[in-house]
Amino acid sequence: PTMAHSKALLVLENFIGGKFVPCSSYIDSYNPSTGDVYCRVPDSGKEEVEAAVKAAKEAFPIWSSKSPLERSQILNKLADLIEHDLEAFAQAESKDQGKTITFARTVDIPRAVHNFRFFASSILHHVTECTEMPAMDCVHYTSRAPVGVAGLISPWNLPLYLLTWKIAPAIACGNTVVAKPSEMTSVTAWMMCKLLEKAGVPPGVVNVVFGTGAKAGEALVCHPDVPLISFTGSTLTAQRITERSAPHCKRLSLELGGKNPAIIFDDADLSQCIPTTVRSSFANQGEICLCTSRIFVQRGIYSEFLKRFVAEAKKWKTGNPSDPTTDVGALISKEHLEKVRNYVKKAQAEGARVLCGEGVDPLALPPGNQKGYFMLPTVITEVKDESCCMQEEIFGPVTCVVPFDTEEEVIKRANGVKYGLAATVWSGNVGRVHRVAHRLQSGLVWTNCWLVRDLNLPFGGMKASGIGREGAKDSYEFFTEVKTITIKH
Ligand code: NAD
Repeated sequence: PTMAHSKALLVLENFIGGKFVPCSSYIDSYNPSTGDVYCRVPDSGKEEVEAAVKAAKEAFPIWSSKSPLERSQILNKLADLIEHDLEAFAQAESKDQGKTITFARTVDIPRAVHNFRFFASSILHHVTECTEMPAMDCVHYTSRAPVGVAGLISPWNLPLYLLTWKIAPAIACGNTVVAKPSEMTSVTAWMMCKLLEKAGVPPGVVNVVFGTGAKAGEALVCHPDVPLISFTGSTLTAQRITERSAPHCKRLSLELGGKNPAIIFDDADLSQCIPTTVRSSFANQGEICLCTSRIFVQRGIYSEFLKRFVAEAKKWKTGNPSDPTTDVGALISKEHLEKVRNYVKKAQAEGARVLCGEGVDPLALPPGNQKGYFMLPTVITEVKDESCCMQEEIFGPVTCVVPFDTEEEVIKRANGVKYGLAATVWSGNVGRVHRVAHRLQSGLVWTNCWLVRDLNLPFGGMKASGIGREGAKDSYEFFTEVKTITIKH
């Protein structure tokens, strides 16, 4: 590193057995809105993972024997401490990830706080099953126990939000964990580690190893003493994790990519639908697994929709993420920006039309952000269903708009991708809304809204979008082992 770099660099350390421990080598982490290296992240491998798993194993007997109420109180305390530092967490998340400060303040960090509170509460309310068999003089009942050391691997798009969505249920159920956040967004996880002791989380219950997927991630996935892995990330990485964990028969929860359709019928309330669909396409720079990227609009309203949708998209302000009036921040990395831009180029080469954004409108950036990884919200049309822009997850501020004629046709087209995570349906016809929702191959269907979540209910995808579900009951079942006990009397 240059002098200028080394002076201001933030250096993270692994958190193992309740202590911060330095690592022998580090990875550079960039501020996506300036392009500068500003942080060094431990480049952990087998040795660090081994130490973390050992600490987690040692902490398991005590933590798992605490009552749900005791664990619940600790989770609530941790939630309060994060909430107390909400602004510092939001600033850090925005700087590390490129997302707008407004999004970090209103979505990421409040949700991380809520994740702990939610599972602190839900863990108190589970009941197990009991059946009677009078003819045999028997009763049967189920009992549930924590599994052991859980390996948690999370992506870069919603760093603390998604990591805590795993840590909270895992430890609420009595497991201990080794977490590996994305190497590109590790700062808020490290900040959270500083609060664990004060919250009353015993040493070794939450361990965090920082580093790359190939080194630290694989070491965790391959560790024989980690019987369950909860992973959120890309479908490609999930395939690798499945292969690497197969010899150990590990329990896997996989939350993966999406290519989410919005289906807009001609009786939709466009005054609601248009701003919401702009938001579902471009929120967090389009870097949310639930973002809309294929918009099917019924022929009769197609041209009006397109005109109003593009006008609304153009209102979104792209620029400095720390300006509270900014709507679109920076993409995560230079490589990712290049990948997203290439999709737009490919679409153009195939004859599609770019109505606004990349390559069409000028992008004016403040002086400090000239080297940041910015891109304008981009709307593509006249694109075929077979095109890579309509089939592959782009994970950036790019959305495709195409017309359709009938309900039957649009269901088939919406289902015509390998993914099945989330869909939105817009119509004023209740019967149609139910019919279409039932036939979509999608783990979540929102009608006349987007991203309204009840954490009690299952979250997850079909087809290449994942295996397993997360939520109050689903996460409880994943993070516990069930046993059926029969008593003859
Ligand atoms: P990614 O798969 O590249 O990485 C995710 C995590 O896995 C990172 O921590 C990474 O270091 C780690 N990893 C990479 N290779 C690994 C390996 N061989 N073994 C173990 N760990 C490994 O994904 P990303 O680019 O960070 O995130 C974007 C993807 O995540 C998108 O596809 C998005 O749709 C998906 N996502 C899904 C959900 C959901 O809930 N379904 C939520 C958010 C993001």
